[in-house]
Amino acid sequence: MTHVYDLIIIGSGPAGLGAAIYAQRARLDTLVIEKAMVSGGQVLTTYEVDNYPGLPGIGGYDLGLKFREHADKLGAQFQEDQVLKVEDDGPDGTKRVVCVNGTYEAKALILATGAVHRKLGIPGEEEFGGMGVSYCATCDGAFFRNKVTAVIGGGDVAVEDAIFLARMCSKVYLIHRRDSLRAAKSLQESLMALENVEILWDSVADSILGDGKVERLVISNVKTGEKQELPVQGVFIAVGITPESSAFAGLVEMENGYIKAGEDGKTSAPGIFAAGDVRTKQLRQIITAAADGANAVTSAERYLTER
Ligand code: NAP
Repeated sequence: MTHVYDLIIIGSGPAGLGAAIYAQRARLDTLVIEKAMVSGGQVLTTYEVDNYPGLPGIGGYDLGLKFREHADKLGAQFQEDQVLKVEDDGPDGTKRVVCVNGTYEAKALILATGAVHRKLGIPGEEEFGGMGVSYCATCDGAFFRNKVTAVIGGGDVAVEDAIFLARMCSKVYLIHRRDSLRAAKSLQESLMALENVEILWDSVADSILGDGKVERLVISNVKTGEKQELPVQGVFIAVGITPESSAFAGLVEMENGYIKAGEDGKTSAPGIFAAGDVRTKQLRQIITAAADGANAVTSAERYLTER
């Protein structure tokens, strides 16, 4: 007979690992299903995290490892697998998580699958993927030492990427579609202090050109219509995130792909909770993801007691 866990947590970013820590302390019989070989989620590709309390300036990879070590220390159980769909027998019923390598059952679920980078959808983006187009400066930046690169976007990730790349690239263009950045003010200050970064305001990327690899980025000014070609060898796209929720279509209510859930993590399906970047929320940060994990476990505990 299949083992029925009290709780299955899907995802092992800060929300999933936060939930795993709280679930262990609540002594719930819990399984964490993670698709990647290394836990941590998006935080792993963040060069430096300067807003997690108590750990100023910690490397994103190190923070991800610390979260996982903490969960391990408390005895959390992990299973590497890719979720295909979830079947729900209804209120108080068993929830079956159907994965590539097996099916896992639980009385309650926490969906903490996070989000992935959004694509821009311009000509050349697909063609030059891995040949100069990247979505991860900390992963690929080293290939562009002493080269000219462009970062597209104006949020935290775009500005963090531009700062990171400026350490190794001869020049970094930041292309932003408006005349002010969305990123945290402290990041903006660090960016503005860099001499080899040039911000091109009110500008959008039209296409990426080259012969086998990236050679030029065509941009246009949205106010004047003026076009220009930037000679760049790398284009880093940081235009936001898309929730990883397709496996839960029809299971829980969604809004623009995000799972509808409040701070308590409760979704439209009893016994199924959402935590972290995948849920509807105001602020998507590591600290709010970790907090979501704690809240979702508390809600799951109540559900399991009252069930
Ligand atoms: P984001 O905050 O949504 O910013 C996306 C940026 O891309 C915005 O500046 C947006 O422009 C621009 N953009 C979107 N679509 C575009 C398009 N089609 N063409 C051109 N530009 C486009 O996304 P993010 O920077 O990837 O960050 C994702 C989330 O992670 C955010 O909530 C962020 O705060 C969070 N984060 C947290 C930490 C941390 O906790 N330490 C670190 C990094 C990121 P507009 O400004 O005009 O909308």
